[in-house]
Amino acid sequence: MQVPVKDSNVSNLANFHLELLEIKDKLNFVSPSVDISSEVKNKWLEGTPILAELQPIVEAELFHEILLDVARACQKWQPGPNVPSKDIISKIEKSNEKEIQSLANAAIKNSRNDIKKWAKKLEISKDLLEFLTLNSSRPFLQIFASEVLAKLDLNKWTKGYCPICGSSPVMARLTKDKGVRKLYCSCCETEWRYSRIGCPFCESKDSAKISFIRSEDYKQYRLYLCDECKSYLKTVDERECSETDLFCEDLATMEFDRLAISEGYQRGSNRYYV
Ligand SMILES: [Zn+2]
Ligand SMILES: [Zn+2]
Repeated sequence: MQVPVKDSNVSNLANFHLELLEIKDKLNFVSPSVDISSEVKNKWLEGTPILAELQPIVEAELFHEILLDVARACQKWQPGPNVPSKDIISKIEKSNEKEIQSLANAAIKNSRNDIKKWAKKLEISKDLLEFLTLNSSRPFLQIFASEVLAKLDLNKWTKGYCPICGSSPVMARLTKDKGVRKLYCSCCETEWRYSRIGCPFCESKDSAKISFIRSEDYKQYRLYLCDECKSYLKTVDERECSETDLFCEDLATMEFDRLAISEGYQRGSNRYYV
């Protein structure tokens, strides 16, 4: 198996990321205080992500503004699966409030079927619309997540999917101090601890089925492969580098995705549908 090298497009990705942070700062969104009942808390302890029970309120007008900002940032820095054309941006601009509200609701729940329907209606590629809605809903979900996590003990979450939104982790980090494994959700930016041994997707603990490869040039990257469910998990070992931003690392290590896919593995999925 050939060791991949890091994508060269790193400065564009970094700029895209900075622009997303600016968009988030612009977001004058205060999540109303979230009240978590003991019933919701108990369901959560049993493995039901919070978003299945409670959702942030997202106003169409604000979501519309963020979606357009994200689309323009994608046009400028070209980080995603394909670049939104002027025509696509104008279609998003012209969408009415009802349409945007429906798209916002689908985006918050990461409802692929609904986003697919919207992609067809707007005549935009599904991959592109997913990329745009993921990046537009993230700031809303992040604020919601920080509100919710202040009221929960994250150490009690042992599942391989996100405790807030139920999405599958896209990456993991091994922490600098103790090499603890943390899984990362790119939808709401939540990170949670998961056992070092085992596959978070199929929960196999069979060490004969789980292996990893490492890049010689970039020692901080590990690509974990599970032969039980044929999924892969990109991981940054922070004992080999400084603390990283996993959002950027995910985009910057697309060569690992290509390598894993060419070897017959897929991005791990164990999503809990909320
Ligand atoms: Zn999440
Ligand atoms: Zn597995």
